[in-house]
Amino acid sequence: PIQPNQGSPRHAARLKTRILQAPDGVSTIVEALATGEPVALPTETVYGLAADALSPNACAKIFEAKNRPLSDPLIVHIPSIDWLPRLTSPTPTALQLAEKYWPGPLTMVLPRQPIVPDIVTAGQETVAVRMSAHPLFQEVATAFGKPLAAPSANRFGRISPTSAAHVLAELNGRIPFILDGGPCAHGIESTIVHVSVEGLRILREGPITREDL
Ligand code: AMP
Ligand code: MG
Repeated sequence: PIQPNQGSPRHAARLKTRILQAPDGVSTIVEALATGEPVALPTETVYGLAADALSPNACAKIFEAKNRPLSDPLIVHIPSIDWLPRLTSPTPTALQLAEKYWPGPLTMVLPRQPIVPDIVTAGQETVAVRMSAHPLFQEVATAFGKPLAAPSANRFGRISPTSAAHVLAELNGRIPFILDGGPCAHGIESTIVHVSVEGLRILREGPITREDL
């Protein structure tokens, strides 16, 4: 298994984190993702720290930058709905929820397909998937053309960031780029719901409420 070099002081010495503005910064962000680097992106909930979800090495850098334990799985953001059956086994209910709430702040936990790296799911047989409604996140994800693993862009155990300045305060020296999309609309993390044939189980409360679901 990949063991990220957690908390290495080399990072602070080696990297200078730059805040990029849209639209000019988008191509630099997509290039960084293509070379396996993690970058901070705005979503409609909080800023995410995104990397190529299909690359175990790229995902390891998320854990390293955040100081996140490998036991804490990542949420995967998909660029388009056709990725849902490529990454998961969606139940009919999952397809209905995707139709109703995506793009938007709903994360669904579903059985994984083998293509999803173990480091993303923390070795579990399920994977958490969502599709962001933020236009900049969508633009980057569409240009990249592959799913992005993106937990919140803060060091482990700290408050999720809702602005580029807040991300910089958390991850300065640990990541190459932050794409500035202004303040996040919701400011709280996505609702997480486990979806199976037995029904829905809310794992984290969020912008989409129990009543909505
Ligand atoms: P964050 O995006 O930083 O809020 O972190 C993602 C959170 O999603 C994790 O801390 C878990 O609580 C949850 N999560 C991700 N994958 C799964 C999964 N397969 N099963 C249950 N919860 C998950
Ligand atoms: Mg978080």
